[in-house]
Amino acid sequence: MVAVFQNQCKLVHKDLLAGTCPWCGCGIINGQVVSWPPWPPRRVAAARVIVLIGMLKDENFRCAAARALGKLGPDAKSAIPALSELLNDKDEDIRKAASHALKKIQEEN
Ligand SMILES: [Zn+2]
Repeated sequence: MVAVFQNQCKLVHKDLLAGTCPWCGCGIINGQVVSWPPWPPRRVAAARVIVLIGMLKDENFRCAAARALGKLGPDAKSAIPALSELLNDKDEDIRKAASHALKKIQEEN
């Protein structure tokens, strides 16, 4: 799981010109880490979120994955873009699951 996390970071950091890595929260400028997040890294939750985001692309699992992300609450913040995309899905169940999960992730901040 941690290996997945580090690989995602490697890819994101390399391609980021300026911004925040969605996986570790580090500030990045031109591919270099320039600041660490003010909160302690929550790698276990982050690794779970990465796996669940991958599952959102699988028709068989995306409903369950959206619900699981909602249960993680604010720890699943990095899933917000992927879940937001599902708000436009043609399947009503998916739209409902995604919008419920987004509420859970954002409400407990
Ligand atoms: Zn990172």
